[in-house]
Amino acid sequence: MSEQDLGITESKSHATGDWYAEVVQKAELADYAPMGGFIVTRPRGYAIWEGIQDHLDAEFKATGVQNTYFPMFIPESFLEREKDIVEGFDPEVAWTTHGGHEELDERLAVRPTSESIIAPFMADWIRSHRDLPMRLNQWCSVVRWEATETKPFFRTKEFLWQEGHTAHRDEQSAREETMTRLDQYERLYEDVLAMPALTGRKPDHDKFPGAEMTTTVETLMPDGKSVQAATSHYLGTSFAEAFDITYADEDEDDCVAHTTSWGLSWRAIGALVMLHSDEQGLVLPPTLAPEQVVIVPIWDADSKEHVLEYADEIAADLDSAGLRVGLDDRDNRNPGFKYNEWELKGVPLRIEVGPNEVEEESATLVHRPDGEQISVERAGISDTVDDHLDEVYAKLYAAAEQTLDGAIREADSREEILGTIGQHGGYVEAGWCGDEACEAPIKDAVAAEIVMVPFEDDPIHEECAICGEPAARTAYFARTY
Ligand code: AMP
Repeated sequence: MSEQDLGITESKSHATGDWYAEVVQKAELADYAPMGGFIVTRPRGYAIWEGIQDHLDAEFKATGVQNTYFPMFIPESFLEREKDIVEGFDPEVAWTTHGGHEELDERLAVRPTSESIIAPFMADWIRSHRDLPMRLNQWCSVVRWEATETKPFFRTKEFLWQEGHTAHRDEQSAREETMTRLDQYERLYEDVLAMPALTGRKPDHDKFPGAEMTTTVETLMPDGKSVQAATSHYLGTSFAEAFDITYADEDEDDCVAHTTSWGLSWRAIGALVMLHSDEQGLVLPPTLAPEQVVIVPIWDADSKEHVLEYADEIAADLDSAGLRVGLDDRDNRNPGFKYNEWELKGVPLRIEVGPNEVEEESATLVHRPDGEQISVERAGISDTVDDHLDEVYAKLYAAAEQTLDGAIREADSREEILGTIGQHGGYVEAGWCGDEACEAPIKDAVAAEIVMVPFEDDPIHEECAICGEPAARTAYFARTY
């Protein structure tokens, strides 16, 4: 990489989209694939995905979920068995019509989501109430031929995700499952991605095809747009009826199961990068950074041997404490270049050691998010570094929380909703009658929609801000990614 390549040239506040694309590429997370709307994930990007995967997978397994793998193709006749899925995904399905030179008897859909191939097997595997709940998950990619503009990680035609599918005896158990997964997603955002989040339901007109209720985690981007960061659906009995997922209860009566599905995609990486990063490049929380710490030794001809030996020992200490540490002892790069490169790549903490540090038995720590420098003692360095990594995490979280807290505003008329979104972006909460027609004028005027309805039933205002009829609930309006 040349000196010039290290600089981010686009402005985060003035050209957010271009800046984001530049950070993703220069920090070596992803490249554009030759087919529009597809990306190639590079090792540094994939490592972040693995971090997310490790965390969620452990949470899922600790709460009764088993991993499986189903084929990426779904016969058309299977997809057609649940009518809402067919209608909902029809414009986005990619079809396979040939195998080699032979035309297939039946077209195969490349899965846009796997309810239609998993449900019939659940129907086979579930016999009695003793088989329930059944909780399956798969880590895979899905394909949706998105019509709207694509953006690395946020919206791609093929994306990596996990999809959970569960079956339960009754509504209560399935609804609890939906909330358990939503809660795990929220925890992932708050505890691993340093991103405070809002949770609630999608309005009925924006539910997952076939769902009774779609719940969502929404996160706010610095340009005031909301990201649908994960979703968890209570599917009622619609899929169970379409695919015959029934079980014998204690009295040997045949009952229909209730099902759920829930998914989180690599959009999480997009939101993470967009939120925390800056004009020096990527900023990552220590929880997910491929290297949590990089040591940059600073030497001249006389001090080289001592400095390198000292740096090596510190690296070994940190490594044996379980930290992900890199030692940048390249001969052909000066320290300034190395600082810039590791800043661009989002390493949360840099350790500088030169002849002074060797002499004083100390080290200089630099926090990536704000450049704060601290001189610390060599003794006990791994505990000290651990504490500083926590501090870096807390800084990222606090900044994001401040942005979110300041971005939720109330409005009680259509003009106020339009004015507030137009001027500030962010979320506007308002009373809402529940009718989709009242969203339309907001969508038309400022391209904002109802992204979330809080779980609490009491609306904040008595009247719908748009039509003046009694409000049934509170709606959060926002522009979205
Ligand atoms: P869904 O099955 O539609 O509920 O999608 C589950 C989650 O995947 C959504 O909440 C999004 O965060 C994410 N997602 C949906 N479409 C895409 C896409 N084209 N690219 C990346 N992530 C997506």
